[in-house]
Amino acid sequence: MPASIVTLSTRAPAGALDPTFDREPSVDRRIQAIVAGASTAETCNTDLAAEPWTFDTRPGYGPGSSMGDVIPTGAPRQGELPEEYRTATDAELADRIRTAKQTLGDRVVVLGHFYQREEVVIHADYVGDSFQLAGAAQAHPEAEAIVFCGVHFMAETADLLSRPEQAVILPNLAAGCSMADMADIDQVEDCWEDLAEIYGDLDTPDAEGLLPVIPVTYMNSSAAIKGFVGRHGGIVCTSSNARTVLEWAFARGRRVLFFPDQHLGRNTAKAMGVPVEQMPLWNPRRPLGGSTEETLLDARVILWHGFCSVHRRFTVDQIETARADHPGVRVIVHPECPMDVVDAADAAGSTDFIRKAIQAAEEPTTFAIGTEINLVQRLAAEHPQHEIFCLDPVVCPCSTMYRIHPGYLAWVLEGLVDGEVRNRITVPADVADPARLALERMLAAKPPAAPASGWENAS
Ligand code: SF4
Repeated sequence: MPASIVTLSTRAPAGALDPTFDREPSVDRRIQAIVAGASTAETCNTDLAAEPWTFDTRPGYGPGSSMGDVIPTGAPRQGELPEEYRTATDAELADRIRTAKQTLGDRVVVLGHFYQREEVVIHADYVGDSFQLAGAAQAHPEAEAIVFCGVHFMAETADLLSRPEQAVILPNLAAGCSMADMADIDQVEDCWEDLAEIYGDLDTPDAEGLLPVIPVTYMNSSAAIKGFVGRHGGIVCTSSNARTVLEWAFARGRRVLFFPDQHLGRNTAKAMGVPVEQMPLWNPRRPLGGSTEETLLDARVILWHGFCSVHRRFTVDQIETARADHPGVRVIVHPECPMDVVDAADAAGSTDFIRKAIQAAEEPTTFAIGTEINLVQRLAAEHPQHEIFCLDPVVCPCSTMYRIHPGYLAWVLEGLVDGEVRNRITVPADVADPARLALERMLAAKPPAAPASGWENAS
């Protein structure tokens, strides 16, 4: 897997920035400039200009796209970051991170998610989506520690796929994922019991060898949910392989229970020809998920009531504005976007699909992209021959990715240099074994090297 090719940049004074930010890869600097009045652009919350440790002791997901979501009681919190890391300049932190990485050498691998801030990504050995990064962790059995600059479920997945002796570290424990948190294991177990009352024994196949329901979970879910799926004959999917995984599930069951992201489930199944009427929503706070027995008996895909607050910000209005302002624009969105947005776009697919679509464009092209702003700005900086912009004009990064800051990265790396493992993420064995089984089924259904799937809409 190739390392990301990046150059080090440090925060510039806001007033010195080009207010158009055409080729500015740093969302952090862009927000600083907006708040300082050096840009007429808008951000969803001016608190984003503060450093993330400001929010570590407060309840909630913090500023950004998930700020309106309800954080579960007992969600991990981050203890106070020592003052020396909070007061260091960006340049000092960058120097400390580089020095610690040099000292540690092959003993550590640093992974950076596509949605991570640029000031962290520049230190990553690998940059990719959650599954690519779990693969990168697996490819380094010699590393004693894997520092995952992403969110909690990603670090759990890396722990599942790495050697038991390897420590997987999440630099800020408050970096959860509001979508993953929407599928709570107790609620999922209750749902399963309700479904058993309607469909009968869920573990016994019918005369044609099909089970009543196959549970399918998106990679963006807790290890507990992956373990549940593994125990009940189910499978994990990513946004790159969701179609292949649904085909796998339909070969084994009458219907699918899909969680936590209703939009990925609906968009993928619809593209496969499943009627929307046969995809009822399951709201865990309502009796029978807010559905009826008749609807559930007719269902092909039961969609958990979860969503990503980053991708829910994209609208059909934004697409129409982009088409009016940029004739010939090519609109590509992530399948975590609502169905009307995916239908109105030219194409939809995973982050890998979006990157490859831009890389494949031979002529200078204008792209309007519907995914997290850090990836969009990085793509714009990497492809100056194209005009690339985010469909959402309001700068609103993922609240939880934002919680990883170079200060935390320096803190965990220097801890390793001193022989101390900080913020280790460990999945208990009783959860890990079935969760691994669900991941292995996915790998057997579609190896990671297979091309990312997405779809083009008819024009
Ligand atoms: S972008 Fe959405 S799904 Fe991804 S970590 Fe953020 S909230 Fe979770």
